[in-house]
Amino acid sequence: VSTTGKPDIPREKSAELYEKSKKYFPGGVNSPVRAFKSVFGTPLFIERGDGCYVWDADGNQFIDFCGSWGPLILGHNHPKIKEKVSEVMQQGMSFGAPTALENELAELILKSNSLIEKIRFVSSGTEAVMSAIRLARGYTKRDKILKFEGCYHGHVDSLLVKAGSGLVTFGETSSAGVPKSFADETIVIPLNDRTAVEEAFKQFPDQIAAIIIEGVPANNGLLIQDKEFVQFLRDITQQKGSLLIFDEVITGFRLGFEGAAKHYGIKPDILTYGKIIGGGLPVGMYGASAEIMSNVSPDGAVYQAGTLSGNPVAMAAGIAQLTELLRSGFYKDLNNKTQEFVESIQRFTAAKNYKFKVFSIGSIFWFAFTDKDIKTAEDIDASSMEKFKVFHRELLNRGIYLGPSGYEVGFVSAAHNKTELEKTKRAIFDSLDIVF
Ligand code: PLP
Repeated sequence: VSTTGKPDIPREKSAELYEKSKKYFPGGVNSPVRAFKSVFGTPLFIERGDGCYVWDADGNQFIDFCGSWGPLILGHNHPKIKEKVSEVMQQGMSFGAPTALENELAELILKSNSLIEKIRFVSSGTEAVMSAIRLARGYTKRDKILKFEGCYHGHVDSLLVKAGSGLVTFGETSSAGVPKSFADETIVIPLNDRTAVEEAFKQFPDQIAAIIIEGVPANNGLLIQDKEFVQFLRDITQQKGSLLIFDEVITGFRLGFEGAAKHYGIKPDILTYGKIIGGGLPVGMYGASAEIMSNVSPDGAVYQAGTLSGNPVAMAAGIAQLTELLRSGFYKDLNNKTQEFVESIQRFTAAKNYKFKVFSIGSIFWFAFTDKDIKTAEDIDASSMEKFKVFHRELLNRGIYLGPSGYEVGFVSAAHNKTELEKTKRAIFDSLDIVF
């Protein structure tokens, strides 16, 4: 029974599937946070999704704010994506040779993105970042990378140092298995700390290839940075001959078609993308000026390749999804309804004097059990995650699905309409009354 004494949602089928999956996969899962380790109960095995809804193996229905961790900006099972993917699949699944679909997706992106001139498609956000780092090192002929505490950039060896996401969810911030010599090439400093950036450049003159930052750090809570800090990073990298890499795997095509860089009015040197660009299929991308990209193989000496890179079925999903995003008013509507949703929750908690804040930007939000402003990973009180655990459980019992970690952000999609957002608000209010 739940905190309120009422029965929890049935999970028998999910529990059965979990018992089986534990035989096959470490922790029973193929990506750690899915294991529900820091929230209540066994992981829910999802059977199907449609619009803003998902259904689990026990038939429970949820309004989904995880959206496969961000890619599903149009919701689940979008008819236009299904149609395009089905059409392309009839011609074969993969050729390992160029196809016109790659050109089509590239054209769609580059026509509406003034930050990059040439791109390379890969199959995940991790690959995009890994390749961007190699390109920055190859281009500058320097080895060190500066990253920020709490920023997650995928499971690249040298970036799993003080990273957020699953690592912080499980109480660690760095991964085992990363050689010290690799980690030594990564300088890690707190966000929003100009002095630490300046000190790093003093300590390692002419050695820092790039500063990498998430467009808006969103893997250790939502740590929205001031424009002045981001501009400072742009300026100092330019002065010191280093590159600025914006990791827009979450924010790209989410805050707007041109992501966080456009939001801040900053032109980074290399940008990485993933998630939304694939319409729910595995696609990542990195891009830069034609001059920087000319260093990538086979034009240049920075090697990077992929058996399934530019896979036609994945390209088809991307084309269908991005075409919808380019429709006039798309982002305005999505961002406005998210702001209304967030503000009304904020009004409720203020009236009740609950120590609870909703941080949000565009259609990304993060629920934090605090009354403080939060800008760095250190500002988050780990003990507040106990409250999230109760909150998450009560929301599931009321048909609302959030990602199973208090450090992860939520996403509103075009498929969340007024009725569902109203229902969600009521569930949030009832759940908060129980938590506090
Ligand atoms: N960069 C950021 C900012 C991310 O949030 C993620 C994943 O959540 C990645 C990179 C890695 O992407 P993927 O999980 O597709 O490898």
